[in-house]
Amino acid sequence: MHMITRRDMIKTIGLVAGAFTMSDFGGMAFAQGSASLQSTKEYSLPPLPYDYGALEPHLSEQILRLHHDKHHAAYVNGLNATLKKMAEASEIDQGMVKTLAFHGSGHALHTLYWENMAKNGGGEPNGMSGDMIGRDFGGYSRFKSLFVSTGKAIQGNGWVVLAFEPLGKRLVLLGVQRHEDSIFAGSVPVLVMDMWEHAYYLQFHNDKAKYIDVFINNLVHWPAVETRLRALC
Ligand code: MN
Repeated sequence: MHMITRRDMIKTIGLVAGAFTMSDFGGMAFAQGSASLQSTKEYSLPPLPYDYGALEPHLSEQILRLHHDKHHAAYVNGLNATLKKMAEASEIDQGMVKTLAFHGSGHALHTLYWENMAKNGGGEPNGMSGDMIGRDFGGYSRFKSLFVSTGKAIQGNGWVVLAFEPLGKRLVLLGVQRHEDSIFAGSVPVLVMDMWEHAYYLQFHNDKAKYIDVFINNLVHWPAVETRLRALC
């Protein structure tokens, strides 16, 4: 197994190896002459942008409470624990690499998910998001059918992700497995739907199709998608 040393990692993130003066790069502080590498900033669980019951009856308070306070919190804790482990390690192993991708992506996707839902969501997107969906998917109704089928096609746990892909300057629709598998590197998610069972099972049981239907018709907060796209284009 190829082991990535801390020195390699430091080179990778653009530092001059050996220059352990007290400097701060993107929140990472390096103490002079010290073997320890300390992160100055831990990730924290952002509060839900609305009350736990705000998406009733479309998504239950019970689901939101557990999903945010337990599941999302676990990814934030896992991310911090992994980064701490990596900072203290003399060598980085495959387990750390995979755990970082899993928990980091889990935290990022959940943060977007809360923000791209609203009580009276749904409908067709306007503005830049409406235009780009029309151009890249042949119209909203075809996009909707592709979005729904992508969700149904996910085996086990995953996400449907609509992302802006900067090389082609276009939108792509991704069926992400777990939180981090089957992504398109460089693309930036602008709309995400959690397809893990914890996102719907307490309310929709095994009716995954019903949850997807409610999400796209009653919960998608298109203004949030529009704001994200405008920041990228
Ligand atoms: Mn989730």
